[in-house]
Amino acid sequence: MSASSKPFAEFWREYARSPVAVVALAVLMLLLLGASFAPYLAPQNPYDLASLRLEDSRTPPLGGAASGATYLLGSDVLGRDVLSAILYGLRMSLMVGLTAGIVAFAVGVSVGLFSAYRGGRVDALLMRLVDLQLSFPTLLVALILLAVLGKGLDKIVLALIIVQWAPFARTARAAALPQVHQEYMDAARVLRLPLWRQLLKHLLPNCLPPLLVVLTIQVASAILLESTLSYLGIGLPISEPSLGLLIANGSQFLLNGDYWISLYPGLALLLLVGSLNLVGDRLREYFNPRLRKGVMLPLDLAPAPRERQASRGSDADDRPLRVEGLSVVFDTPAGPLHAVDDVSLSVRRGEVLGLVGESGSGKSMTARAIMGMINAPGRVTAGQVLLQGVDLVAMGETELQARRGKDISLIFQDPTTALNPVLRIGSQMTEAVHAHRRVSDAQAQELAARMLARVGIPSPQERLAQYPHQLSGGMRQRVAIAIALLNRPGVVLADEPTTALDVTIQSQILAEFQGLAREEGMAAIWVTHDLGVVEGLTQSVAVMYRGRIVEQGPTHEVLAAPAHPYTRGLLDSLPAANTPGQRLRQIPGMVTSKVGKDPGCGFRDRCSRADERCATPVPVVRLGTADAPRSALCHHPLV
Ligand code: ADP
Ligand code: MG
Repeated sequence: MSASSKPFAEFWREYARSPVAVVALAVLMLLLLGASFAPYLAPQNPYDLASLRLEDSRTPPLGGAASGATYLLGSDVLGRDVLSAILYGLRMSLMVGLTAGIVAFAVGVSVGLFSAYRGGRVDALLMRLVDLQLSFPTLLVALILLAVLGKGLDKIVLALIIVQWAPFARTARAAALPQVHQEYMDAARVLRLPLWRQLLKHLLPNCLPPLLVVLTIQVASAILLESTLSYLGIGLPISEPSLGLLIANGSQFLLNGDYWISLYPGLALLLLVGSLNLVGDRLREYFNPRLRKGVMLPLDLAPAPRERQASRGSDADDRPLRVEGLSVVFDTPAGPLHAVDDVSLSVRRGEVLGLVGESGSGKSMTARAIMGMINAPGRVTAGQVLLQGVDLVAMGETELQARRGKDISLIFQDPTTALNPVLRIGSQMTEAVHAHRRVSDAQAQELAARMLARVGIPSPQERLAQYPHQLSGGMRQRVAIAIALLNRPGVVLADEPTTALDVTIQSQILAEFQGLAREEGMAAIWVTHDLGVVEGLTQSVAVMYRGRIVEQGPTHEVLAAPAHPYTRGLLDSLPAANTPGQRLRQIPGMVTSKVGKDPGCGFRDRCSRADERCATPVPVVRLGTADAPRSALCHHPLV
């Protein structure tokens, strides 16, 4: 199996499942061949007036001509062979249709992708332009343009491009919009790929299926439009007849019964447009990997879980990540919403910190703010993120991008959106390596394979050649983790990456990650809403509620004796193995988002210990030792 023959064989196997599509492709190929080799195939050169025999005018197909010549499809009024005229006409129609379609594709898709990518005013302006273009009937615009431009091949192609780019732009934008905010595009931005590369390599392939359909429709409709214009006598000059002009020339003889002069060119046009559409449909199915049947791979056997033990010691000052007073505010119509409110935390080398809280408590926003990835309408309003002592908040975007993926990286929540579905695992991994290191492609492949093995993926070389849809959810998440760890960052953030996986797979991945963090001396933050994960994976924990960290400290101490009533509530709602038969208690009420600054405790409306004091600014209660500090944000701590 050579590398080049395999994708084609795969493509063909898939394509050939539809017999209609195979026939359509064969017809299209025949027409293309006929058009390409018209000068060699045609019995006569229809442009050469000297070769026409006027005495053979309107000879029926295979009928006896005055000159004794035989015309397979008959001859027209000038005694011109209809078959030859069709072959040359096909050539002309295809050339016009393809040129116009492809240029319109390039123009429209560039506009559409750029529009979706930039968003905002640029997007609004470009789309109004598209609306304007689409609101006029194509034929009318083409007629007016040709009236202004005049006759000729170049003029008609230009007119077709002008009337045809807009549907490409609209479709490209629509297809790109859901993609531009996917995590793999964030990742591409983080890698500082040039704009054209982000658009062409990462965005375009994911928007291709609908665009391919539009392309086939537009090429077919360009051919029809040109035929119509030529039929009306304002398209191509009579010296260069396309199919439309042939139909027009023959139509006046239809009433006399000389049907063949326009029928056969008409059939050729029908076959061309029809086969184009059928082939395009099949291509759409092929190029969309999600429409294809994926091969689920069996899971590997569980790797031996590593011993979990906090490695705390004298390295108290060795904290690659320190966050001080970080705040994120969303400007909403109801007022400012404090999604992250004065968050301070720090992580040691080799330590995993669990960031835990109910959905909506601000965990993801904290992780994104640390990465400098807060999008409008959100903004970081205060605080510092010290990465190896350097403040990321104060840093410019360019400098920040150079560090993301290299010194600090983020593992996203959903592996199905964190990986680009149309690029092979290997290509996505080597790209991440190349973005930060000067290594050869072979070295990058080697690094990628080794990292896949490290996160517990068997036969990594084979996986590199596969697409994300060929892997199971657990495998995909391992790949996403491997990508985040490729450049051996000192700090890693993980935003609930195993939430969607089943418990067994989740615990395998957690064990792998914990081992890696320790061996590599990484400082890690693992975001989760699951105290079970916190207990099994982390050495320290920070509990979030309504954007604030309400309690933090060493995991075993906090879980053994929580100081904040909210932490207590979370623990009570956890099914613990040592209290069988006991009913789980729920925290009454639900997290509500708060608009405006509230100095009091955010939990007081759900807290059984709350009194009027809880509406006043909450003190930080320091607990624990200098070596293992603990703190809680509460007027009435439990310890
Ligand atoms: P978590 O990850 O803990 O589930 P998030 O960090 O995603 O929570 O969100 C925290 C809060 O930020 C949410 O409760 C929500 O109120 C607010 N938020 C997030 N995105 C937006 C937005 N685009 N506009 C307004 N508020 C937002
Ligand atoms: Mg979240």
